[in-house]
Amino acid sequence: MKVLVAVKRVVDYNVKVRVKSDQTGVDIANVKMSMNPFDEIAIEEAVRLKEAGIATEVVVVSAGPAQCQETLRTALAIGADRAILIESGAELQPLAIAKLLQAVCAKESPQIIILGKQAIDDDSNQTGQMLAALLDIPQATFASKLTVENGKAVVKREVDGGLETISVSLPALITSDLRLNEPRYVTLPNIMKAKKKPLEIFTPEGLGVDIAPRLTTLKVEDPPQRKAGVMVADVAALVDKLKNEAKVI
Ligand code: AMP
Repeated sequence: MKVLVAVKRVVDYNVKVRVKSDQTGVDIANVKMSMNPFDEIAIEEAVRLKEAGIATEVVVVSAGPAQCQETLRTALAIGADRAILIESGAELQPLAIAKLLQAVCAKESPQIIILGKQAIDDDSNQTGQMLAALLDIPQATFASKLTVENGKAVVKREVDGGLETISVSLPALITSDLRLNEPRYVTLPNIMKAKKKPLEIFTPEGLGVDIAPRLTTLKVEDPPQRKAGVMVADVAALVDKLKNEAKVI
């Protein structure tokens, strides 16, 4: 069984991003970039399926500039078998990514496709859902546990206020939530091995996919500055402030 995982190169989660002065976006020049944390979880899950003898091959795909090769090499070091880069310097919105991944799925015919539940840069939470719809296959989003049995995937999903367990027939698309697993550390020998693993490069044009943006960003702003706190003398003063100033009780 082949498992395909999509990984995005994003600004590292430790970086404090700065909004550009013209408010068109955030400044990503010279900032540290890493694999989207939810995608690391997605890769880890795919590699565990292979180690459990359920998956036979793990293919990892990324769309974006040539530097995404670094992200793909990290995925190969975690344990993916081969990588595909869809190289493009253009802005790629979730629908365009979903169409690009659809084209790769048409070539690869994976039985399980795992994406992160969301990319931490655009917070869209759309690509997986759109890809499942384009492929016309079942989807199990926000997975916190995955088991594969009798040609079906059983997925525990994180839903508001609890967990829901569903079973979907394969092929299926799954999106990873935070509690699905704890990704392993990448070891130096595995980084060295990853350098020798195959990495194929396609372009959106070569795949025949229209990546024209459908959304226009009007403005990006910093969140409002937090006001400094005040020390109150006692509980009575706190209750008074909550009642008469904040008006929350
Ligand atoms: P989003 O819908 O943008 O929040 O992204 C959800 C998931 O889609 C990510 O966690 C990735 O698994 C996948 N994805 C988004 N953008 C890309 C990309 N440029 N290349 C590969 N996978 C992507």
